[in-house]
Amino acid sequence: MSFENLGLAPNLLSAIQKTGFTDPTSVQAAAIPKALAGHDLMVSSQTGSGKTAAFMLPALQRIAGMPANKGAGVQVLVLTPTRELAMQVADATRDYGAHIAGLRTAVMVGGMPYGAQIKALSRRLDVLVATPGRLIDHLQARRVNLSTVHTLVLDEADRMLDMGFIEDIENIVARTPASRQTLLFSATLDGTIAKLAGKMMRDPQRIEI
Ligand code: AMP
Repeated sequence: MSFENLGLAPNLLSAIQKTGFTDPTSVQAAAIPKALAGHDLMVSSQTGSGKTAAFMLPALQRIAGMPANKGAGVQVLVLTPTRELAMQVADATRDYGAHIAGLRTAVMVGGMPYGAQIKALSRRLDVLVATPGRLIDHLQARRVNLSTVHTLVLDEADRMLDMGFIEDIENIVARTPASRQTLLFSATLDGTIAKLAGKMMRDPQRIEI
């Protein structure tokens, strides 16, 4: 399996080449074509499996493939349990999106000053990577609008639930369009995660690596 066979656009393939990846990891090979086909996904995956590219490449392709959408507001929202993971996801987004002209990515996490986040929210934004608590703060202050989100990613969903973010997640998801695509990544896909997925996903495909 090579990246060329997954259905990715040339500007994403050239960015992947620049990062030095030669072959997709198993989670990438399984998830990318299904995500590009528009399915909701529940994926069991560990840190280090290449899961970030597995959700971010298809999410970016929807941005890149819809030029009319550019400037329309936040298109991709990624929720992560921790600040560190959010930063890593944002860095990876900038690498994978290096050849999407004008792509803007911002991080909204707790424990960081509000000023820079508020400034970023006042400008055009395509990809938002956030921890649930801080995003709720911005939503309550009406600084961010999620009605233009077409791809919602729950990264390390089991850890977010363990940290007690369930209510925040449900509040956030309720502010995104029902027509969105939802991609859930988690170390386990057990009862609690399945219950969450049942509430917020449409006919999700399960990928267990
Ligand atoms: P992740 O699981 O997304 O945190 O990725 C773990 C590490 O694997 C990161 O340093 C990525 O840059 C790297 N990585 C992701 N996909 C690939 C790939 N297809 N080939 C080689 N390295 C990769």
